[in-house]
Amino acid sequence: MKIFVLSLIFFTLSSVGYAQTPEHKHPTVQEIVDEISEDNIQRIVERLVAFHTRHTLSDTTDPYVGIGAARRWIKREFEDYSRYSGGRLQVAYHRFIAEPQPRIPEPTEIVNVVATLPGTLEDDDERVYVISGHYDSRVSDIMDAESFAPGANDDATGTAVVMELARVMSNYEFDATIVFMAVAGEEQGLVGARQWAADAYRDEMNIHGMITNDIVGNIFGGNDVVDNTRMRVFSEGVNPNATDEELRQIVATGGENDSPSRQLARYVHEIGPLYTTNFDVEMIYRRDRYLRGGDHIPFNELGYPAIRFTEMYENYNWQHQDVRIEEGIQYGDLPEFVDYEYTTNVARINAAVLASLSLAPPPPTNVGIDVSRLEHDTTLRWEHDGSGNLSGFYICIRETTASQWQRKLFVRESGVKFNGEYSYTVKGISKDNYFFGIQAVGDNGLHSVTMFPVPVR
Ligand SMILES: [Zn+2]
Repeated sequence: MKIFVLSLIFFTLSSVGYAQTPEHKHPTVQEIVDEISEDNIQRIVERLVAFHTRHTLSDTTDPYVGIGAARRWIKREFEDYSRYSGGRLQVAYHRFIAEPQPRIPEPTEIVNVVATLPGTLEDDDERVYVISGHYDSRVSDIMDAESFAPGANDDATGTAVVMELARVMSNYEFDATIVFMAVAGEEQGLVGARQWAADAYRDEMNIHGMITNDIVGNIFGGNDVVDNTRMRVFSEGVNPNATDEELRQIVATGGENDSPSRQLARYVHEIGPLYTTNFDVEMIYRRDRYLRGGDHIPFNELGYPAIRFTEMYENYNWQHQDVRIEEGIQYGDLPEFVDYEYTTNVARINAAVLASLSLAPPPPTNVGIDVSRLEHDTTLRWEHDGSGNLSGFYICIRETTASQWQRKLFVRESGVKFNGEYSYTVKGISKDNYFFGIQAVGDNGLHSVTMFPVPVR
């Protein structure tokens, strides 16, 4: 009878919606978001368009035309931002020779422009967050490296988001390291991002999350729907790198909707819209759109949490097209089709998420759900190294059919620690009927992504 009463209370509260535990708006995060400049984003997009083409196989020596001139300009911009922020932003080319492949006929040097803002917390385990946009562009024929390829929306907008975030965020200090990347070779098969991710993997870089911004500036859908109030976040449900044992566990726990990438997407959904007005995040339970890919995929393939940001409705007349007028219709990825206010809102979501993650404690580790006996309560166990001014944890709970966490119980760090490990029993809520997760909370009120527990005995 007692259990029934508790369950009833829970159901009543959970029916309110996903945002039951009011989220705390952090003043520094708000300040960063407020500094994002629409004018600067527009200036960057228009400057990138002016290189005529940024095709990966285009000229690299001309001072005004081609991908070489574009990357030199991006690097100079990053270096300017670094100077204004006291030199903490480290700017470098990541360059390599891509061997011949379907969209690259002969060995070609690919150059990513990378700006790194080192984390300042010494006892943090060098957590890294990566944000990217691709600066290469294309027209109808993927091998055409000469024609006017403005690539204003795809993906000068994503590149501008990354650069604007680097400009603003390099004036602040974060616990975690943030890597701002303008990537080449995306249109030729995710070549630039794949090599950078492989090098990071080889160097055992501790990447906790990666976001690619690709096509984030159009509000006029090819389906005649105008939508400037939403963006999409794509996240995979099951990681292709999962071992057989991990797959068995995913099936046994019903964890198909709780991959690390999906938790990162949920974090974006939870935090981003707090700092924007009339601008929401739509989660899409899919790695990417049909027939398309993006620079998050090579990261997924190496097991990293990685997601894609894209506008709500695309317009295919304005993507991957020769610039031309046909039967009165203008084709081509021209800057006049970019809505800069929209792109600025996407940048604000990025800034809110990256700043919150990088100022929050790292997530808990070894998160387990006790399955040693049949019971009607739920006991969780986890560890945390204590870094990041840890004050406690949120125990996140949702019904198995709910897409977002419905309840977040705060437990004080000192109240749940036993013999170096943390443990908490949620009374009256059965692990059989709900999903659980844990977030680490700092004394600044900011929290980590959610860690989904594995069964432990
Ligand atoms: Zn793209």
